[in-house]
Amino acid sequence: MSVADSTETDWVSRFADEVISEAERRAPGEPIVCASGLSPSGPIHLGNLREVMTPHLVADEIRKRGHACVHLLSWDDYDRFRRVPAGVDPSWAEHVGKPLSSVPAPPGSDHASWADHFKAPMIEALAELGVDYRGISQTEQYTSGAYREQILTAMRERESIDAVLARYRTKQGEERPGAYYPYRPYCEMCERDLTMVTAYDDDTTELAYSCACGFGETVRLAEHDRGKLVWKVDWPMRWAYEGVVFEPSGVDHHSPGSAWVVGGEIVGPVFGGERPIGPMYAFVGITGMAKMSSSKGDVPTPADALRIMEAPVLRWLYARRKPSQSFKVAFDQEIQRLYDEWDALGRKVAQDAAQPAELAAHARAVRTSRGPLAATPRPVPYRTLASIADVTTGDTGQIGRILGDLDGVAALDEVRPRLDRAQAWIDTHVPADQRTRVRESPDEELLGSLGEDERESLRMLTEGLDEHWSLEGLTTLVYGVPKLRAGLAADAKPTPEVKAAQRAFFALLYRLLVGRDTGPRLPTLLLAVGAERVRKLAGG
Ligand SMILES: [Zn+2]
Repeated sequence: MSVADSTETDWVSRFADEVISEAERRAPGEPIVCASGLSPSGPIHLGNLREVMTPHLVADEIRKRGHACVHLLSWDDYDRFRRVPAGVDPSWAEHVGKPLSSVPAPPGSDHASWADHFKAPMIEALAELGVDYRGISQTEQYTSGAYREQILTAMRERESIDAVLARYRTKQGEERPGAYYPYRPYCEMCERDLTMVTAYDDDTTELAYSCACGFGETVRLAEHDRGKLVWKVDWPMRWAYEGVVFEPSGVDHHSPGSAWVVGGEIVGPVFGGERPIGPMYAFVGITGMAKMSSSKGDVPTPADALRIMEAPVLRWLYARRKPSQSFKVAFDQEIQRLYDEWDALGRKVAQDAAQPAELAAHARAVRTSRGPLAATPRPVPYRTLASIADVTTGDTGQIGRILGDLDGVAALDEVRPRLDRAQAWIDTHVPADQRTRVRESPDEELLGSLGEDERESLRMLTEGLDEHWSLEGLTTLVYGVPKLRAGLAADAKPTPEVKAAQRAFFALLYRLLVGRDTGPRLPTLLLAVGAERVRKLAGG
């Protein structure tokens, strides 16, 4: 049975089953609508990628099964600009309260607005990730009057909306001054939302507001396209307007009185729609990045992750965990282990030995209903590429030589884009004190202090280099030398004494080659350093 036919393979399949049957009940014959929303109020955090990846994976599964399905991505660019982030000219404070699409982009940006500036890298990342969606600018929707009827309806129903809100407000002991209006105009004069609706007439739709800037006017809401519904009314309005059947949201949206809860009570009575199937997704954390760049106040974005890992690997992280499970994206040494795990899964899949859920997650990572994502033709282990990039400091000539020796790689394109990701990881996320610096000249003092036994071990190593010049060969050689010195065969099981001798031998080699006790895996390091230089540094 293929993944596409299965109904029980993994969480994506289970949601697809549920969404398809729910869509058939709600709107038979219509394209199925899955939705996400992102606010371009600042850099879009890697954690927010789950908001898009969850419906993407479900929508893609639905398409694979032959149903028409659209994934809407709402850009909440008509939301107010809340505050000036650290690092931006404090004069941007004058824009607080304007729609994000009306705020100038941060200084130095080529983009037309604040919203466009922060959307752009996300749009690029989603393209690289193979996410197929229809973007909707809420600025365009509101300012074109697309929601006019819905706005008039919400205003007419303001008392019933207020009654829903009041139930939660009372619980929280909050008071609301004056009459309730679910619509807030952006001021005609200053463009900010520091406005208060002072009167509204249902028959004429005349709406009076005053603004903190001193301006005030009366408009006809039936013709007014410069304002928006408050968030807790806006969201359910859009569920009904778009006919959304699936839309996940973060944990923070699910508390009592939250937009998800309140929206669920408003969407039917006010807008005649239904709340979508909406799993709550758990937090996605980061390891390693905060330490590196917290001084710049940066947050890691999907683009940052895609600089150090290939798109299928990032997709896999989201596909293999249920939305309710939290996980971390590694920017530190852990990324090497993650890649080992990914490659091991790839081998299992190739040998037809993967479990159904593993197979499904792998399939969702490497291809979408549109086709396969870009892959590295020869997936040399990431940790090997990272070590080579580290030791050679990115010299492509040297990298080419080493990879040729290592694996018969004829051209660097065979190991791209993985090589570039490993190089970027070394360059941007490995602290200087963890970088490997191969010694320029032999450590004569150390070499002079060695005993006969150590000198003999080094001699066996340097004499064996040419014959063992491959990753596998050098692995046999470095582990084998201490065994042979102990009178065992090279392929014998090591005794505790031999293990101790191996550790001492490896530490000696690290000191001679890179001047410290540890470093990249030795066979990789030897290949990266080159036989001639190894002989020189080992006193051979
Ligand atoms: Zn104003």
